[in-house]
Amino acid sequence: MRILILPGDGIGEEITAATLTVLQAVSARFDLGLTFETADIGFKAYDATGSTCPPAVLSRAREVDGVLLGPISHLDYPPREEGGVNVSAAFRVKLDLYANVRPARSRPGIGQTRTPMDLVIMREATEGFYPDRNMAVGSGEFMPTPDLALSVRKVSAFACERIARRAFELARKRRRKVTAVHKANNFILSDGLFLREVRSVATEFPDVELEEVIIDAMCAHLVRDPARFDVICATNFYADILSDLASELSGGLGLAGAINAGDDLCAAQAQHGSAPDIAGRDQANPTSLILSAGMLLAWAGERRQDPRLLAAARAIEETVDQTLAHPHLRTADLGGPLGTRAFGQTIADSISLGS
Ligand code: ATP
Ligand code: MG
Repeated sequence: MRILILPGDGIGEEITAATLTVLQAVSARFDLGLTFETADIGFKAYDATGSTCPPAVLSRAREVDGVLLGPISHLDYPPREEGGVNVSAAFRVKLDLYANVRPARSRPGIGQTRTPMDLVIMREATEGFYPDRNMAVGSGEFMPTPDLALSVRKVSAFACERIARRAFELARKRRRKVTAVHKANNFILSDGLFLREVRSVATEFPDVELEEVIIDAMCAHLVRDPARFDVICATNFYADILSDLASELSGGLGLAGAINAGDDLCAAQAQHGSAPDIAGRDQANPTSLILSAGMLLAWAGERRQDPRLLAAARAIEETVDQTLAHPHLRTADLGGPLGTRAFGQTIADSISLGS
């Protein structure tokens, strides 16, 4: 299995290096035959090619079996017309990685909640409010006058149907509940269309419970009783905000792994950004990207029906849990003493030892 590593900006270099150590360890232990290649995105690519997301990188991503996508700086990029492309959006839209799967699970001894939480946010990742003039037709921002700004949100039946299907399929393998999050009381047409598609898919999954919750109430419920949620399905913007809330409740952004999954390609990507405040100091928690890499192996294992990939994915999850259970084996964001490199090495060593 060929994996393309794109370190990205900020803490990207450090957390991709730590994650590579872990992937090499699972590859050796489970005989996965993983091979790795690297390319630049973000500021490094901009300096070399004039674009933060060179088309050649997207082409290479199409050729490999999986991508490890580092974090991207959003704030400091030059304007789009000068090469400052939002790399995450380019990957999701141009490669049609429409399902951004974002779990939030409390781990032993970590988390802000009274009861353990274990949920997955299924975020539609190609449409919504996100303005990208070149890509998502019909979405974007514009200013008809200097004192008036308008945002347009794109919601299509096609995109809602397929994200709902992924949510129900996932719920069937978990606790059989989907919570559709919306604001259809105000956004009658757009969120109404989303709900129409979710309800229609739900009829094909009579064994899975469907619950509908308004986005503002959802924030309150998440804080009060996160254990009641299993799979949460939402359009792009709502899901983005909810997932920061959920990941913080479960222990912090440094633990928040995710994948961007299409039908034929998957990119592992942490939920957080490039954390420029701690970049280059060996302080970042690489758990987020290590868990994302585990999700990538699970995604590939399910598609290929390959028990070794599935075992490797489970080993990553379990080793992270076992390691984080020890306060002296945590990184600084969780109050521990380990640096990025030492934490990655600890996980890799445990995997190699099979412990
Ligand atoms: P960007 O513009 O790239 O989104 P940001 O300043 O919003 O950057 P985020 O990466 O979104 O930064 O995260 C917000 C804060 O959370 C960071 O400033 C950092 O302190 C913390 N943080 C994020 N990821 C990690 C991590 N992996 N390990 C430790 N702390 C992290
Ligand atoms: Mg950010």
